[in-house]
Amino acid sequence: MSITASQITKLYGSQKALDNVSFTIGTGEVVGFLGPNGAGKSTMMKILTCFLPPTEGSATVCGFDTRTASMDVRRNVGYLPEHNPLYLDLYVREYLDFVAGIHGLKDRTQRVNAMVERVGLGREQHKRIGQLSKGYRQRVGLAQAMIHDPQVLILDEPTSGLDPNQLVEIRALIKDLGREKTVMLSTHIMQEVEAICDRVIIIDRGTIVADDTASTLRSRQQHHVLLEVEFDRGVEANLLLNIPGVVQARRGEGQVWLLAHDAGNDVRPAVFQFAVEQGLQVLGLQKSERGLEEVFKELTRR
Ligand code: ADP
Ligand code: MG
Repeated sequence: MSITASQITKLYGSQKALDNVSFTIGTGEVVGFLGPNGAGKSTMMKILTCFLPPTEGSATVCGFDTRTASMDVRRNVGYLPEHNPLYLDLYVREYLDFVAGIHGLKDRTQRVNAMVERVGLGREQHKRIGQLSKGYRQRVGLAQAMIHDPQVLILDEPTSGLDPNQLVEIRALIKDLGREKTVMLSTHIMQEVEAICDRVIIIDRGTIVADDTASTLRSRQQHHVLLEVEFDRGVEANLLLNIPGVVQARRGEGQVWLLAHDAGNDVRPAVFQFAVEQGLQVLGLQKSERGLEEVFKELTRR
């Protein structure tokens, strides 16, 4: 096992940020740690990277206990903290060399070169960090996390605040890194998990509410089939719920409705019948498997 968390509880004063949390992450896995804001994701990651001690319970990384063998843990773990704190006045190479020094690496220049290459910083390597776009700063953060060639990467919301192009690039980079490393990444974005991860651990209010592969989680839902219907004008939700077989109706974009129904119960003929009765035109009708997003909403509904 690359990571184990065993009955971890963390109190900030009287506030319980983590409540008896246990999970394991195997070598080579890429796991999404998913939860709404305030769920306890960053707290868990700080415990795994020895930045915070747990109030109760224990954690290991590559077999080393975070409390009794923190130097060994730090050697084996690369950490990209939330908000990626960087020294904006330093040059990219200067900063990476500085981090290599902290790790006591001997072949510093060689490691800096390798990281610049690995994360695609070639054209930006001679700039100050403050001159870089957010996407390139994240690359610097990833290079910093990997410079000592750790087995495990812990990335706290690595794509937050990126524009759509940067998002795609950084996700691709993380996915690629996941071929060599064990990766635990936190996010509150479900699509991110679907795009990058083999497995998802969902945390809510300090408690694990799901721990499964993405596909198993999806099929956990009883009503897991969604039909996307676009009408030519607005419709009331309660009318849609009268369509036989429709168990849930949720507004999509524009005049699109997402209708949930049981698997094996094709409601499309009934939807057409409904449209005819209401004098509506059906502009689009599309079956979609209920996404992980829905499972997430259901599990973390307050
Ligand atoms: P997430 O990363 O999932 O958004 P956090 O781990 O940052 O969640 O926070 C979990 C809970 O602990 C939140 O309610 C947060 O307000 C609280 N918390 C986090 N850090 C501190 C701290 N240093 N002192 C007090 N409360 C904190
Ligand atoms: Mg956080």
